[in-house]
Amino acid sequence: NLMDVSFAEVIGKCMGLGIMVSINQRLDAEVIELVSSEFGYEVEFIGVEDADEEDFDDDDSEENQKSRAPIVTIMGHVDHGKTSLLDYIRSSKVVAGEAGGITQHIGAYEVEIANGKHITFLDTPGHEAFTAMRARGAKVTDIAVIVVAADDAVMPQTREAISHAQAANVPMIFAVNKIDKDGANPTKIYEQLSQMNLLVEEWGGKYQNQEISAKKGLNVDLLLEKILLEAELLDLKANPDKEAVGTIIEASLDKGRGYVATVLVQNGTLRNGDLIVSGQYFGRVKAMLNERNQRIQEAPPATPVQILGLNGAPQAGEKFKVYVDEAEAKEVAVKRAQIVREQGLRARKHITLDEIGRRLALGNFKQLNLIIKGDVDGSVEALSDSLQKLSTDEIIVTVVHKAVGQISESDVLLATASDAVIVAFNVRPSSQAARLAENEGVEIKMYSIIYNAIEEVKSAMEGMLEPKI
Ligand code: GDP
Repeated sequence: NLMDVSFAEVIGKCMGLGIMVSINQRLDAEVIELVSSEFGYEVEFIGVEDADEEDFDDDDSEENQKSRAPIVTIMGHVDHGKTSLLDYIRSSKVVAGEAGGITQHIGAYEVEIANGKHITFLDTPGHEAFTAMRARGAKVTDIAVIVVAADDAVMPQTREAISHAQAANVPMIFAVNKIDKDGANPTKIYEQLSQMNLLVEEWGGKYQNQEISAKKGLNVDLLLEKILLEAELLDLKANPDKEAVGTIIEASLDKGRGYVATVLVQNGTLRNGDLIVSGQYFGRVKAMLNERNQRIQEAPPATPVQILGLNGAPQAGEKFKVYVDEAEAKEVAVKRAQIVREQGLRARKHITLDEIGRRLALGNFKQLNLIIKGDVDGSVEALSDSLQKLSTDEIIVTVVHKAVGQISESDVLLATASDAVIVAFNVRPSSQAARLAENEGVEIKMYSIIYNAIEEVKSAMEGMLEPKI
């Protein structure tokens, strides 16, 4: 309508581009852009989906920006001490003179460090939670603390955590834990990390490291200082003087209180009585509680708060935004509900090898992300090397994660968050992973001959694979 062309002309143009569409089908953003440009129009997207992006960025003028606390996720192998570390920090860093300690788990908590600086910790440790949020488009974590037990070694989930943090471009600090134990050998850990091209500071590298005992609380304060140092380098800023935007950390229905959501304010300040929209839900903030179960009136940037008043439970990782105009807020929520209904549970479309040809034709495909899983180390390395060597001037092949073993749910989540294809050699997905991949629209390519894998990826990159419609 805006372009004043008939639907037949639009369909014709689409067909000319090799895209078969019917009249009542939604086109994705790329196609809309391309088709409009064919008619001489430039598209500006102001839709309900991601129109709020700019509110998260530091686009405000310098003087409105104030430093904000870093938001930290703790990751690492099971039993290496993530929970112990979160527990120790939670219980020890209660600001002196403050009434009550942290009394409830709301999904995140904020602590004040001696010099008046703050750090916010996400209280669900692990890279699965981290990447699940990313898969929904949430950019929450500023710094990842990777916990490795000094009496153990760099383990499969340590590697996963590192890949997940790297894929998200989040800086890492290594906390070498359990140094109180007999047999603790931090040097061995640093050596193993160095074999992965991760040099800690002590070894002349760029990654900060700290030896700690989470159980005894040994050196945890030094770790916190290093987090603050990293945060300073990142120069994290936000503007507290505008309407709040942020991300849902968790949400549920509480018998007595209605829908309860923990949100992390990422920019602006959230106030009691504010009208917020998150996904297809909205409502006025009836009450805000902090992790000490105290009512608060306002939550500045990097503050986690529990809020009451939404008319539903948005998914973790969903963004929220404050609206001034009630009619507009409702309209946005209703439109989103409508999209959800129309599309059902169909997930966003992710890259597949067949798709590459089409994306190449659209001219904006630059990087092919792969996750490589195999039955033995040798084949994983061989496959990963050969596939990376397929990089051309046009397309860079990036291996986001590689490991030995079955394809897990966390691999699929990572593929979702990084828009990657999973290439498997002599291994299969677990049944949960297969289901998740199906729901998320993530492609898993399984091979038993390395040559075939390489040939197929190569032809895909040349746009030679026939799309399956
Ligand atoms: P998570 O699975 O990474 O969250 O690990 P946990 O925090 O649950 O810790 C696993 C086990 O290691 C528990 O029994 C902890 O008490 C123990 N643990 C954690 N940190 C330390 C530490 O610094 N020293 C010792 N000796 N034990 C620890």
